[in-house]
Amino acid sequence: MNQLLTLTSDPFVLCERDGVAYYRAPNLVFPHGFSTRMGGVSTAPHLKSLNLAYGRGDEASVVEENQRRFFHAVFHVDGLSNAARREQIHSADIVYADKGGIYPPGDGFFTDTPGVILTVKIADCVPILLADPQRRLIAALHAGWRGTVSGIARKGVEALCDMGADPLNIQAAVGTSIRPCCYEVREDFYDAIKDECGEAFAERFVTVRDRDAKTFSADVAGMNLAILKEAGVKEENIAVSPLCTACHGDLFFSHRASKGQRGTMMAAIMLDETS
Ligand SMILES: [Zn+2]
Repeated sequence: MNQLLTLTSDPFVLCERDGVAYYRAPNLVFPHGFSTRMGGVSTAPHLKSLNLAYGRGDEASVVEENQRRFFHAVFHVDGLSNAARREQIHSADIVYADKGGIYPPGDGFFTDTPGVILTVKIADCVPILLADPQRRLIAALHAGWRGTVSGIARKGVEALCDMGADPLNIQAAVGTSIRPCCYEVREDFYDAIKDECGEAFAERFVTVRDRDAKTFSADVAGMNLAILKEAGVKEENIAVSPLCTACHGDLFFSHRASKGQRGTMMAAIMLDETS
């Protein structure tokens, strides 16, 4: 595996294999990756080139080839049949995955079964991967703001603990997402966060951007960091990517920055037999 370059003080490592560029978290021992937009075969400018989702404008065969490339780069297997996927609905619903395939709609997976690739799709929302190296348990979570305030990160930790994990042993990786610099929201967003999580939480993570225009900056990754800590994960066991998807259009797909004309990235993790 080649390391291409390190950006700023990013603890995540940008890796490259067979032309596919993806990020690894510094603290997860199991095979995993956060895709970028580099290394696929999509040709439309807004999908170039590693669009990993159907329904964005690519032929199915193109998406399949991109997924094959990503899974092969990260896991060294043809992962198409091993990957657990589901339509994402901005919920806090997570499910145990004992095999690859399409699961009913929801926003995450957990497992103790080696060889099953847990996947979530993102293009600004927060991807979270969890792992307990002692008990060999993993989870992959899609945390948009609705899923975040519904507590999907806490549910992921609880699911691993229900299977025997100690939260003190859980390592968490919060991947690249849209950051407060670019995630401008309005008062209704602030109110929704306040209603779900209380005023102190809203004040902390939805800060005033322009008082006259009544705009705010939202920090959804920060919300998830706080929720993971509250669930018992040690701060030193949580790695957060500092990069903003909307600021780095050369590296990432961003729903907000592209006004919806964009491809989709993936975060994925798998237990191997030996790690
Ligand atoms: Zn930004």
